[in-house]
Amino acid sequence: MKTFSQRTKEMLSKLEIETSCCCEAEMMGILMFAGKFRGTEIRVSLESLDAIKRFAELLKFCLGTEVQIKSLRSSYFCVLSDKKVLQKILEYENQKSGFSQSLIKNECCSAAFLRGAFLGGGTMTDPNKNYNMEFKMYSTYIHSEFKKLLENMGLGFRTIKKNNGFVLYTKNSDIICDALAHMGAFSAQMEILNVKIEKEVRSEITRTSNGETANMDKVMEASSRHLMAIDDIEKIMGIDNLPDDLKEVAVLRRDFKDLSLEQLGKKMVPPMSKSGVNHRLKRILDIAENL
Ligand SMILES: [Zn+2]
Repeated sequence: MKTFSQRTKEMLSKLEIETSCCCEAEMMGILMFAGKFRGTEIRVSLESLDAIKRFAELLKFCLGTEVQIKSLRSSYFCVLSDKKVLQKILEYENQKSGFSQSLIKNECCSAAFLRGAFLGGGTMTDPNKNYNMEFKMYSTYIHSEFKKLLENMGLGFRTIKKNNGFVLYTKNSDIICDALAHMGAFSAQMEILNVKIEKEVRSEITRTSNGETANMDKVMEASSRHLMAIDDIEKIMGIDNLPDDLKEVAVLRRDFKDLSLEQLGKKMVPPMSKSGVNHRLKRILDIAENL
């Protein structure tokens, strides 16, 4: 039986490789987390065959070099020994300004690096059991650079020192969802959201059965105001003519009438905070009022 983490990695490995600025970032993400220097070569080993195949493809695209994939017990590996390739990799790693400067050419590349890092050295727990995502690394330099990169993406991970290395981890389900969305692991993100919603519904039922129906009433009252506004917009100008950000919220509000703003926010891609959803709904109310 494959773990949640393994399934997520397989899924990520099958994403189309875009022949863009992001390729190098993803390749180096895998290398920095799964590559080991041994004298004049680097050995990259991964648990998943799909992931190592993806690494080989990225390598071929970025540096024009082909590698042979071999297997050892339950993992797969390849060895890079071409001098020019090693030189190029060292150049990336030894940037004085930090590797993010050289690898992250555009905003999209941060996400690609994160995907590579996860494929190379990340794991996560099945959300049905627990919320946990972590990345292991041994170099102080990679740790500080990667932590900075995560922070720039709005992903706050904590550090613990372990076995001569570092583990960056989070147990916050919102951060895990955001990280998965950045990587492009939308099905894994959906699984977590579903688990969260289920948990929330269960606790909501407990609360209401305790006689606390006031909250739910408030949700329904606000929802009906929004629905009337959305209805007016649909009749007079059409929901399709709303700006894209408002359209997404309007459609979700209409389709999930009894969800709270927080729950609606979790259904958005990428997920959004309660106040963000509230802000957009207010703009929708304003538009409806001025029709
Ligand atoms: Zn890019």
